[in-house]
Amino acid sequence: MTTSLVTGGSGFIGSHLVESLLERGDHVIVVDDLSTGNLANITGFRDHPKLEWIEGTIENKELVTQVVDRADEVYHLAAAVGVALIAKQPIQTIERNIYPTQLILNRLGERVKEGDKVRCFIASTSEVYGKNPKPTWSEEDDLVFGSTTKPRWSYGASKAIDEFLALAFHRQHNLNVVVGRFFNVVGPRQTGAYGMVLPRFVEAAVAGRPITVHDDGKQTRCFAHVHDVRRAILDLVATDACMGRVFNIGSDQPISILELAQRVQERVNPDCGITFQSYADAYDNSFEDIRRRVPDLTRIQEAIGYKRDYDLNAIIDAVAAYKRAEA
Ligand code: UDP
Repeated sequence: MTTSLVTGGSGFIGSHLVESLLERGDHVIVVDDLSTGNLANITGFRDHPKLEWIEGTIENKELVTQVVDRADEVYHLAAAVGVALIAKQPIQTIERNIYPTQLILNRLGERVKEGDKVRCFIASTSEVYGKNPKPTWSEEDDLVFGSTTKPRWSYGASKAIDEFLALAFHRQHNLNVVVGRFFNVVGPRQTGAYGMVLPRFVEAAVAGRPITVHDDGKQTRCFAHVHDVRRAILDLVATDACMGRVFNIGSDQPISILELAQRVQERVNPDCGITFQSYADAYDNSFEDIRRRVPDLTRIQEAIGYKRDYDLNAIIDAVAAYKRAEA
């Protein structure tokens, strides 16, 4: 039986991944400090006999050693998330993104030296591309961060360090590790508390409050359902040829934020209004927004035959059903 470790397994993406791993028959160890994760995310399978839930921080070296040593596969998803959190906790954002990754990779490196064949997935983000001006972003593109006076970029820069580390462990110790860069992953269980636009829009519509669009709403994003993303994660880890490589994961179908607001209004609550607020006001002028973000998905399509089952309408409906049940 495979034992899988999921850090951040009570978070949004983590909890969906844990569910898949349990369905696959794995023994699943979850470590989560509940800083942004939520026990409600795992209520449906909290008592599963193969789920081992540990409330703890992966900044604790002893705990990391204990759990990593028992795993055949490690899915490192625990991280600081969301622009609202980066704005509030800029120090923790950087520390939480780098130090635990280093602990996990170090321990995995030791195990590889002892002859173990353990595999690892490191979660990264489209934020690593920063302000890359290209219309679509592919994995070999340069990373273009903004000024250190704008804390937004600390998030992408710290995740870029994680990627460098992961690839260094692959080169130096032949560690079986794959990096996935998530592009606006959405779906049920995602909270709007840390700034994420889709749950915020749907929460507002369900509550009958106006939807708040930042700036002119012409900035675009591509949204992918977490179910498509978790399948991609499992396929990447299961594929030998993916080791030591970096992959974009998401959707390549852009929509403007204003159109997204209108779509949510149309499908969830035609009576809710749309209001506008400047991004600078929303985030205290310490952030700059990204105007356009579209992944090139060629690499992941070629590597694992990646394709998505959910379009945006299906996603909005699923999130609305979840938020209504939660309300
Ligand atoms: N956004 C918005 N209203 C909100 C939250 C976000 O208009 O209540 C916009 C934000 O300005 C950005 C996009 O939605 O252009 C995506 O924001 P999010 O924080 O979800 O993720 P990002 O892709 O920027 O990391």
